Amino acid sequence: MALNIQEIKKQDFERVLLATEPRAGLSAIIAIHNTNLGPACGGIRMLPYASQQESLYDVLRLAKGMSYKSALAGINFGGGKSVIIGDPTKKSKDLFHAFGEFVETFKGKYIAAKDMNIDSLDLALVKEKTRHVLGVEGEVGTSGDPSPVTAYGIFRALEATVEFLTGSPKIEGLKVAIQGIGHVGYSLAEYIKKAGGEIWVTDTDMKTVEKAQKELGAKFVALEDIYDLDCDVFAPCARGAILNEVTIPKLKFKAIVGAANNQLATPQDGIRLHERNILYAPDYAVNSGGIINIFIESQGYDRNKALNKTEEIYRTMKEVFERSKKTGRPTFEVADQLAEERLYGKK
Ligand code: NAD
Repeated sequence: MALNIQEIKKQDFERVLLATEPRAGLSAIIAIHNTNLGPACGGIRMLPYASQQESLYDVLRLAKGMSYKSALAGINFGGGKSVIIGDPTKKSKDLFHAFGEFVETFKGKYIAAKDMNIDSLDLALVKEKTRHVLGVEGEVGTSGDPSPVTAYGIFRALEATVEFLTGSPKIEGLKVAIQGIGHVGYSLAEYIKKAGGEIWVTDTDMKTVEKAQKELGAKFVALEDIYDLDCDVFAPCARGAILNEVTIPKLKFKAIVGAANNQLATPQDGIRLHERNILYAPDYAVNSGGIINIFIESQGYDRNKALNKTEEIYRTMKEVFERSKKTGRPTFEVADQLAEERLYGKK
């Protein structure tokens, strides 16, 4: 295929390339933020972006986020991401082959994985053109569904949070409100239930709610009412930007620990939570089980190894909370600082 590749110069990013291949209908960007710790690994996202500018903004923000997530998780992956600009209902073999050739031009500096609107079949097509792909579910030796590992990390973060607040990590009797009882949310609910906690759930899909009611004794709460609940902990496991100027003033929770990415609508919302004395466990610090799972695949997959590495989230969270208490800085700023210390080797 005849890829047309153009470099986009961006400050603080190692390499950003735009590729087009008219016959395959490819228009994609791969951004590498930083490879100080290892090859840049990050998912492929496919969306019908309104403009190239919009897709560039998204890929840069996400690539940088991956550098911070992997650094804080203590794994030797750098930060990168890719976007395919297009309608996810119009996928083709040629499209993913052309994209695979694009990935191959990075010679292993970028490793592709799944993200929004990309499934294992798409990823398998990419892999036909490059070996720098991880997380194709169903293939022998691959890491499979990352959600249970992610949920385990969230649960350990929850224990660290409760321990910081009460002096004991015991979950027994803890009231947790889960927004989104999907892959991660459901698995998290199982951990909480097993540890003796009480669960409230909301979801746009009533089938999964009914299952949680029946199997886990969860109590149902309507979508918008979750913000008013009188529970101990809020676990956002559905979507981003749910912590904002409208929701934060309503919250009665003592802490927030959940899987959703980009929970804070703006950095100001992290400060709002801090001022309201609501302990926020930074999303990317607690939901790194998924990328840890992929990292372990790159070394020869072993689920126990993935869980053991994910276990470290407990210690990281305690460090974040202790440092926040000592310095008076919001937890999300402390997490960034810790990530930067590992990424750039500076204090
Ligand atoms: P999922 O799609 O399986 O689950 C999300 C659930 O949220 C679904 O049941 C959906 O019906 C529900 N939902 C959607 N909109 C909602 C709304 N407005 N209010 C309440 N519920 C709503 O996804 P998942 O894999 O469980 O991931 C959950 C979140 O965690 C996502 O934001 C994802 O990006 C993030 N995350 C997941 C992983 C992972 O390993 N799966 C890793 C890191 C981060």
